[in-house]
Amino acid sequence: MAGQRSNAGRFDGRVALITGGTRGIGLATGRTLADRGAQVVLMGRHAGEGSGADTPEGVAFVKGDVRHTEDAAAAVQATLELHGRLDVLVNSAGIIYRNRTVEEHSEEEWDATFETNVRGTFLMCRAALPTLRRTRGTIVNVASYVGLVGFRGAAAYAASKAAVVNLTRTMALDHAAEGLRVNCVCPGSVDTDMIRRAWEATGDVEEAAREWAAKHPLGRIASAEEVARAVAFLASDDASFLTGVALPVDGGITAG
Ligand code: NAD
Repeated sequence: MAGQRSNAGRFDGRVALITGGTRGIGLATGRTLADRGAQVVLMGRHAGEGSGADTPEGVAFVKGDVRHTEDAAAAVQATLELHGRLDVLVNSAGIIYRNRTVEEHSEEEWDATFETNVRGTFLMCRAALPTLRRTRGTIVNVASYVGLVGFRGAAAYAASKAAVVNLTRTMALDHAAEGLRVNCVCPGSVDTDMIRRAWEATGDVEEAAREWAAKHPLGRIASAEEVARAVAFLASDDASFLTGVALPVDGGITAG
C-alpha cells in the first residue's frame, strides 16, 4: 500500500516454535526465521546442534517428544514463558521406514510412523491453537511430495504424509474464520540425515546420490535451506492470502 514500509519476509516481533528443530529442515528453518528477525524455539527429543553453544541469537531449545500430549503442551507453555506469545508453529519432526510394502511393514513400524508424523502434528497443532488464535498466527507443516503422489517402498510414510496434507487443508478450513492460516510444504529429496541414512543403507552412497538426484527434473536434490525458505514464505505476511496450500518444493517431480 502507498506510503507503507515493506516488511516483506520479516518476522520482527514474532515468535516461532519448530518441532524436529535440532536437525535438518527444522534446524534450517529455525536459522532462517531467526535471521529474519523471529524469536525461535526449537523443540527436539535430544539436545542437538540447535541446542548447543553454537545456537544463533534469538534461538532457544526445549526438550520434548511430539508423540506425547504433555510434551506438546509443555513446549507451547515454555515458548510463552520465554517470549510471551506464539505466532508461527512449524511441524517438522518426522520419521520414515524405507523398503517396506504393506506386507513388509510390522504393525509397530506402522504405528510409530503415524504416531510421530500424524499424531505429533495433531498434538502440536491442538496445543498451539489457543495461543495462535490470539496472534492470528500461522501453522506450516512439513509434509512431503509423497503425500501428493504414490511412492514405492515406504507405505506407512507415504500414507502418513498424505494424512498431513489433508489435515493441513482441513485445519485451514476449520480455522480460516479465526484469521489463522494453515499450509504445508511437500519437499522432494532433501540433503539431511534422513536421506544420508538411506544412501548409506544401499552400500554405495555415490551411486545412490546420483540416482536420487536424477529423479528430480532439476537434476539434484534440495538443500535444507531451500525448503526452509519455502516454509518461511508460507509463514510470512507475503503469503497472507494463502491457506490450505500444499506447496511442492520438489525440483519438479510432481509436475510430471
Ligand atoms: P532429520 O531426520 O534430519 O530430522 C528429523 C527431526 O525430527 C530430528 O531432529 C528428529 O530428532 C526429530 N524427531 C523425530 N521424531 C520425533 C519426535 N517423536 N519428537 C520430536 N522430534 C522428533 O530429517 P529431515 O529431513 O530434516 O526431516 C524433517 C521433515 O521433513 C520430516 O517430517 C520429513 O518427513 C520431512 N521430509 C524430509 C525429506 C528429505 O528428503 N529429507 C523429504 C520430504 C519430507
